Amino acid sequence: MRFICDHMLGALARWMRLLGFDVLYPGPISDREIIGIAVEEDRVILTRDKELSSTDKAQALYVESDDLEEQLLATMSELELKVTDPMSRCSLCNAQIEKVDKTSVEGEVPEGVFDRQEEFWYCPTCNKYYWQGSHWDRITKTIEKLVGS
Ligand SMILES: [Zn+2]
Repeated sequence: MRFICDHMLGALARWMRLLGFDVLYPGPISDREIIGIAVEEDRVILTRDKELSSTDKAQALYVESDDLEEQLLATMSELELKVTDPMSRCSLCNAQIEKVDKTSVEGEVPEGVFDRQEEFWYCPTCNKYYWQGSHWDRITKTIEKLVGS
């Protein structure tokens, strides 16, 4: 299952990508364009807009909360999603990220992070490194509580 988020759901899009889901976040485009992409690419629309969510042209989910964790939990439980491939997509560009050796990130990430973390990922498109920091721990614990590991 792939997704397209409306412009109100940037944080949700970023976190779903980190959890491994393929999520488009196209910026401010019209409802018609969002529906067009959803139909063309077989994506589920995630939206804060009740009217858009009621379209009968594509599958759509109305995301009621404006709290990120509640949005994640609601989306995952409504659509019965499971996290099977975490840390596989770049939160900025949705491309696949690759696991890299710890030795190769020395000097590229903050020193404290380098000391604390053992696993790192890299997006060649954005030239950005990823690791599972405290925010990651908090969010995954919340999800585990709801859906089990
Ligand atoms: Zn990227």
